[in-house]
Amino acid sequence: MARYIRFISDGAIAWGLLDNDEIHVLAQAPWLGVEETGVYLDVEGVELLAPCEPSKIVCVGTNYYDHVQELDFDTPATPILFIKPATCVNDPEAIVVRPRSSQRLDYEGELAFVIGKTARRVPAAQAADYIFGYTILNDVTARDIQADDGQWTRAKCFDGFAPIGPYLTTGIDPSNLELTTRLNGEIKQHSRTSLMMWGVPELLEFITEGITLLPGDVVTTGTPAGIGPMEDGDTVEIEIEGLGVLSNLVKWEQT
Ligand code: MG
Repeated sequence: MARYIRFISDGAIAWGLLDNDEIHVLAQAPWLGVEETGVYLDVEGVELLAPCEPSKIVCVGTNYYDHVQELDFDTPATPILFIKPATCVNDPEAIVVRPRSSQRLDYEGELAFVIGKTARRVPAAQAADYIFGYTILNDVTARDIQADDGQWTRAKCFDGFAPIGPYLTTGIDPSNLELTTRLNGEIKQHSRTSLMMWGVPELLEFITEGITLLPGDVVTTGTPAGIGPMEDGDTVEIEIEGLGVLSNLVKWEQT
């Protein structure tokens, strides 16, 4: 298992391998080959960035039975996909802004994976060859706009609606990880990735049948039951076993 971070230090963006609190600064994104520069930094002195630069984020809309029930949706026969654009990417510990056009902003805690090499028509059995690592994603959603529009593009795609991080972790089995979402310390979502309808390898096969995934692209695997609103000043934390804690402050846009 290894933990990679992307960070900004003295105005420069770099990748690093995290060894406890020490960053081994890397020459390039780790999926291009882990190449150490010989420079070391203290993690306390840097600002963490999302650990990927996706061309797109492919999202699975309904992938836990209990979440389908709470939304009163029908159980889908195949995964329901949508895409968040790159402008949704937000950083660990950054502020999530509720836009002025929404009155209800929800968290959705999700396991995400990051692609390491170009993936097209990948059989499930070969998924591990194309997935570089795993991270946490908050699929922030303007729930009122989702209901008003009848489809999800506007509700899911405001700027900053995809905090990702804090790490990109390799060498982890994604099939049965504990997932917990806390709002101001109170548990709101608590599930396991073993309760997903479609697991990571099956999702990669389904998605890449028609959509080529590029290195750095993100797939986020859907949220379990317990979704709910975030208020001005709230702190939302998503913890996944082995992947750390993604923590963001919520603020309402000042108009
Ligand atoms: Mg979601």
